[in-house]
Amino acid sequence: MISPVLPTYARAKVAFDRGEGARVFTADGEAYLDFGAGVAVTSCGHAHPHLVAALTDQARKIWHTSNLYQMPGQEKLAQRLIENTFADTVFFTNSGAEALECAIKMARKYQSATGHPERYRLITFEGAFHGRTLATIAAGGQAKYLEGFGPKVEGFDQVPFGDHEALKAAIGPETAGILIEPVQGEGGIRPVPPQCLKGLRQLCDDHGLLLIFDEVQTGVGRTGKLFAHEWSGVTPDIMAIAKGIGGGFPIGACLATEKAAVGMTAGTHGSTFGGNPLGTAVANAVLDVILEKGFLEGVQQRALTLKQKLAALKDNHPAIIEDIRGAGLMMGIKCKVPNTAFQAAALDQHLLTIGAGDNVVRLLPPLIVTDADITEAVDKLDRACKALEAKA
Ligand SMILES: *Cc1c(COP(=O)(O)O)cnc(C)c1O
Repeated sequence: MISPVLPTYARAKVAFDRGEGARVFTADGEAYLDFGAGVAVTSCGHAHPHLVAALTDQARKIWHTSNLYQMPGQEKLAQRLIENTFADTVFFTNSGAEALECAIKMARKYQSATGHPERYRLITFEGAFHGRTLATIAAGGQAKYLEGFGPKVEGFDQVPFGDHEALKAAIGPETAGILIEPVQGEGGIRPVPPQCLKGLRQLCDDHGLLLIFDEVQTGVGRTGKLFAHEWSGVTPDIMAIAKGIGGGFPIGACLATEKAAVGMTAGTHGSTFGGNPLGTAVANAVLDVILEKGFLEGVQQRALTLKQKLAALKDNHPAIIEDIRGAGLMMGIKCKVPNTAFQAAALDQHLLTIGAGDNVVRLLPPLIVTDADITEAVDKLDRACKALEAKA
């Protein structure tokens, strides 16, 4: 008999009742260290007092009005995102995939509004992940997500990761832009070197294409800068964000330059829930935390600690760990054992991790994680590796 909840997820057999900081607790009070953060979502940790206050204060005032009226909280959030990024304007969504849908539509609309309606195709990269809507599974191009869902949405050309020549060859008269994650997340924590991002910017400028960054996972402090592309000095024309910006409240956004947004006039796009008062109140509170002076420097320091401890872990367990990679608090452990076995061994130690492609286990702790939490997590990983070694 089918389960009441559509059985599309392979869930671990554990449920959490409450959380605090980097820890979650079962109803029986058993603690787990959360180095998954709900897939890079709970950026400020669980039950952060400032976020709880923002949500409850707003809940007492007004939850939802729709975008038919002025939205002061949304305007404030947009203004702050603009002040801290390349962007001139922001569209709010409820998820990452919707932020990407807006980005894809905007790139097509830009070309059409500037005299090139024939340019509607986007170049994407093997191993990419952009969401689960029909357009975003086509953009991601992964067979396992496309299989059985009918004809793939037209207009996406995929090239191998890191193959500049294939990329150049893929640019044609119908190309509208290039879409890329600065660090592939679900593809297995594969950072794009800064010089490659620079090369993409140059190619886009030379060919009249738009550069779109998917920072749904890498954004909002995850790599130690507000956005990962800042490490390269390259800015996109359009950027999709979500996950960390809501700290657990579902909200996403599509940020763009004025130039890229030229076609997006009244009536061309919309969302009922997108950027509603509850969501923007929480997202503004998340920005209060992350934009506080010194916060991102703290993330960078803790990221360095994590990276060094993981390097030592790898040296101590050469039969289990092949490689450590990533940026900031977005680290990947490439396993020599199946990553599912590694994750299960970590779960046995009460450490939550997230799987990824390329046999990688992701560590995505909340950005407020402490050095003591990091030490504890790596100790748990050490015990998990020993348990795996004992089994081999
Ligand atoms: C999670 C993710 C998405 C999709 O976000 P949803 O909120 O699940 O729709 C898109 N792109 C990247 C890089 C992601 O990590």
